[in-house]
Amino acid sequence: MNKIYLDNAATTPLAEEVIDAMVQVMKVNYGNPSSTHSLGQEAKILIENVRREVADYLHASPSEIIFTSCGTESNNMIIKSCINHLGVERIITSPMEHKCVAETVLDMKKRKGVEVVYLRPDQKGDFDLTKLEEVLKGSEKKTLVSLMHANNEIGNLLDIKKVAQLCKENNALFHSDTVQSMAHMALDFSDIPLDFASCSAHKFHGPKGSGFAFVRKSSGLKGIITGGPQERTLRAGTENVCGIVGLGKALELSLKNMSEYTSHIKEIKKYTIDRLSAEIEGIKFNGRSAEEDKSLYTVLSVLLPFKDPMIGLKLDMKGIAISQGSACSSGAAKPSMVMMMILDEEEMQHTTPLRVSFSHLTSKAEIDTLVDALREIAESFKIENTNISHR
Ligand code: PLP
Repeated sequence: MNKIYLDNAATTPLAEEVIDAMVQVMKVNYGNPSSTHSLGQEAKILIENVRREVADYLHASPSEIIFTSCGTESNNMIIKSCINHLGVERIITSPMEHKCVAETVLDMKKRKGVEVVYLRPDQKGDFDLTKLEEVLKGSEKKTLVSLMHANNEIGNLLDIKKVAQLCKENNALFHSDTVQSMAHMALDFSDIPLDFASCSAHKFHGPKGSGFAFVRKSSGLKGIITGGPQERTLRAGTENVCGIVGLGKALELSLKNMSEYTSHIKEIKKYTIDRLSAEIEGIKFNGRSAEEDKSLYTVLSVLLPFKDPMIGLKLDMKGIAISQGSACSSGAAKPSMVMMMILDEEEMQHTTPLRVSFSHLTSKAEIDTLVDALREIAESFKIENTNISHR
C-alpha cells in the first residue's frame, strides 16, 4: 500500500538532492574539519559555505550561526546558557512551547531556582502582548522571554518582531523556537531584534540530527558541550559535515522553490479546509489554524466532532500517516498541553484533535483519501450513536 504522508510537522522526507549531496560528503569529504591538511580543509570549507548560506537567508553574520545536532539541542543550549552564563533569573514563557523548551525551563526552575512566569493563551491560542509588557515591567530581575514563532500543533504564528521590540525596550533577552518556520518563510534577523533562534533540518526535507542555533553576536552566550574549539567553542565535538551539507542543500532547495512550494501548500490547505467542512458535519479548526495570514501554511489543526482515541491507528491502517498533535507527545495518554489550553471541558470530552501537516509533495488526491477515511470514521460514530439510542 502506498503511504499517504500528512505528518510533515513531525518530520519531512529527504529530498533526493539532499541525499546525493550527503552521500558525496560521506564518500569523498571524510576529512576532519579541524585537520590542517587539504582533506580536512575541504570539509571545513563545505561547513563554512553552509554557514554563509544560512547567514544570508537570515540577514545575519556567519559568526552568529552555530551548528548543532537538532532543534532540541539548540533550544537547550540557549536557555541553559542564559541562566548559567548570562545571569538570567526569570523566564517568561508559555504552556504552548515544545517539550524541549518546556522541560528545559522546568529543569532550570528546579535546579537553578529560576522564576518562571507563564503567559496563558486565549482560546484561539493567541497571547496578549500588553500582558507580556506588563509582566516585563513588573520585575527588576534579568529576564529571558522564550516564545515560539510557529506553534507545532496548531500553527499559530507569533508576531516575533513585536515581541522582540518589547523585549529590547524592557531590557530582556528574547529566544524564539523557530524550528517550524525556518526555511518555510522569509526571516530577516536584521529587522527582527531577537537574540536567539533555533532550526532543525529535518523539518524542511533535510536530515535528522542536524540543526543550528542563531546566537546574536553581542549576546555573550556560551555552549553547554565543552571540549574542542569547534563552532567557536559554543559547540565542541567534530562537526557533522554530512548533516550540515544536507541542511545546506535542503535550505537551498527551500529558498529556490519557496514561492512555488508556498502557493502549492496554501492551495492544498485551503482545499483540505473546504473539503473537510463540506463532508464532516460539526468539524472545527483549532486556534488560528484555518486563517491564512495568522498560521503557518504547513499546519492545519482539526477538531473532529467525535471522541476517538484510536483515530491515528485507524488512519494508519488505511495507509495514512498522521499525528494527533506533536510527534513527541503522540504516544502519551494525556491530551497535549496545547489542547488543554485552547479547548473547553466539553470539547475535551467529546472531540478528537488531528494535525494535518503538508509539504510541497502533498496532492489533492491524497487529501481526498483522507477526507473519505475521516467521513467513514465519522459515519461509524453516527451509526453507533443511533444504535445506542435505539436500545
Ligand atoms: N521545536 C519545535 C517547535 C518542534 O516542532 C520540534 C520538533 O518536533 C523541535 C523543537 C525539536 O526539534 P528536533 O527534532 O530537531 O530536536
